[in-house]
Amino acid sequence: MKSLFFIISAPSGTGKTSLCKEVIRNLSNLTSSVSYTTRKPRSGEMDGRDYFFVSPEKFQQMLDQGLFVEWTEIYGNRYGTSKTFIEKLMKDQVDILFDIDSRGARKILELYPEGISIFVLPPSLQELKKRLVSRGTDSSETITSRLKLAEQEMEDAGFYQYTVVNDSFEEAVKKLKSIVIAERCRRRNGIC
Ligand code: 5GP
Repeated sequence: MKSLFFIISAPSGTGKTSLCKEVIRNLSNLTSSVSYTTRKPRSGEMDGRDYFFVSPEKFQQMLDQGLFVEWTEIYGNRYGTSKTFIEKLMKDQVDILFDIDSRGARKILELYPEGISIFVLPPSLQELKKRLVSRGTDSSETITSRLKLAEQEMEDAGFYQYTVVNDSFEEAVKKLKSIVIAERCRRRNGIC
């Protein structure tokens, strides 16, 4: 059976990463595409699990070697989806969850049009600001630019097949799991 691609985007601070982790913890045969990034690890993040943390030089070298399916630059940091990493998962017939921005989502869908796209929305921009402030990892300037970008990104929501509002974490996890399960039950994707 072919791997299913679940492409999830959301404005920064929406809780997408925690949601993705919980969905993966709850469902078998689903794993996350671990991207390469030049961003420094945040506290609690682990190399090889959350990202492969690399230097800008190493990233550029990989880019020159054509090792990324897609890549992007956000707030001065680069992020790229590894070709080798996803090819291995496809070989093992594991379903893949991509936690990537909307530019990356479009690129993945160009290459794999059968991918399933999901946009996670915050309950409101006010709530998003509150979450970014309470996360305590960003300066006020970064928060302002993240909110501006969030507003732009939310305009992209209409491009996605599914939208999930992360109002209650448990409810949002339930909805995301339901999407994965329903897509797996599509006749063209096999029998579940
Ligand atoms: P963060 O630094 O908060 O982990 O991620 C910032 C943004 O980069 C998030 O929107 C995340 O989804 C996106 N991102 C992470 N990895 C990739 C990737 O490989 N490609 C693209 N296009 N975006 C990514």
